Amino acid sequence: MVLPSVPALIDRLLRPLRNLRLSVTDRCNLRCSYCMPEEEYVWLPQPHILTFEEIARVVGIFSQLGVEKVRLTGGEPLLRRDLNTLVAMLALLPRIRELALTTNGVLLARHAAALRTAGLQRITVSLDTLDPRTFLQLSRRDDLHNVLAGIAAARTAGFVSIKLDTVMIAGVNDHELVRLVDFARSNGAEIRFIEYMDVGGATHWRKEMVVSRAQILSVLGHHFGPIRAVPRTDSAPAEQFLLPDGTVFGVIASVTQPFCSTCDRSRLTADGMWFRCLYAEHGTSLRELIRSSTDDAAIAAMISQTWQQRDDRGAELRAAMPDRQPLVAAAQLRSQPHLEMHTRGG
Ligand code: SAM
Ligand code: SF4
Ligand code: SF4
Repeated sequence: MVLPSVPALIDRLLRPLRNLRLSVTDRCNLRCSYCMPEEEYVWLPQPHILTFEEIARVVGIFSQLGVEKVRLTGGEPLLRRDLNTLVAMLALLPRIRELALTTNGVLLARHAAALRTAGLQRITVSLDTLDPRTFLQLSRRDDLHNVLAGIAAARTAGFVSIKLDTVMIAGVNDHELVRLVDFARSNGAEIRFIEYMDVGGATHWRKEMVVSRAQILSVLGHHFGPIRAVPRTDSAPAEQFLLPDGTVFGVIASVTQPFCSTCDRSRLTADGMWFRCLYAEHGTSLRELIRSSTDDAAIAAMISQTWQQRDDRGAELRAAMPDRQPLVAAAQLRSQPHLEMHTRGG
């Protein structure tokens, strides 16, 4: 049973706290060039990783404060052992209306049915290419066949409205735009094209590599005919568009048209560090509080105060920079792994 909404906490820019991205591990089985291009990484210490009980307690507190949507992410969330047990625990929280997962899909075929049974409602699979060689080049792993099997298994398991997320990179996969739309349509999925972001971890980012929302719409418009925008009904980052045949696709224009003004999301890392913005340099550690004798009310009060102080709008500030470079250099990431996209959860 889902309980009625509680009034949301509001930050300094009048944005509610409704959405929590929950990274369950910083580990990954791919090495995407836009996220984990280095040879070596510094991992979060194992004793710091929150247990399922600790995660469920924190999410319970967030849900009392108005969070209604939770997305499990990582690193690669399916590397976290027994993830379906966590899903079942979170599915019991009466104020969570939407429980979703973002995965690279490599292990999805093995887990889709159990995740569905446990109460997972939505799945987003990252799919950057349909070409095995490009997949290998982009991710340094030969796993495209496993990702495709994962998408098929998710459908078989009964997941509807599966989303496919594609990071578009100039000269790498932008020639596959049309093909990816066709693939999504014939597999009952909705594809969303993401502009390549200069987040922590994207140490090879250059602005010339970004394929903009305008370029994406132009290519698809030339091929499919006039594209119409679907009116927005929520604060989701993806803008939806309609092709003449009724196919819906999305664009997440985080670089050229950031959407910080409606951002209701925050992120919790696998070791309990809470970030109010994807680009934020500092977070708030909830792990010590959870592992001390602090009660839920005191933790809730701390979260409330912190959100009410929030004025982050990282992507908008980055967009205003004349000479945009990668956010953080690789050397700094080794001493501050929390700045990594794969640590804080995309
Ligand atoms: N490993 C899982 C996956 O790839 O789906 C979940 C974590 S991953 C960090 C979440 C999302 O962030 C993925 O869709 C990925 O494509 C996206 N992402 C990572 N680095 C990015 C970047 N530099 N620009 C845009 N999106 C990025
Ligand atoms: Fe790729 Fe996701 Fe792993 Fe990053 S966390 S390397 S985006 S699969
Ligand atoms: Fe939200 Fe920060 Fe992303 Fe802007 S940059 S949309 S404030 S997470």
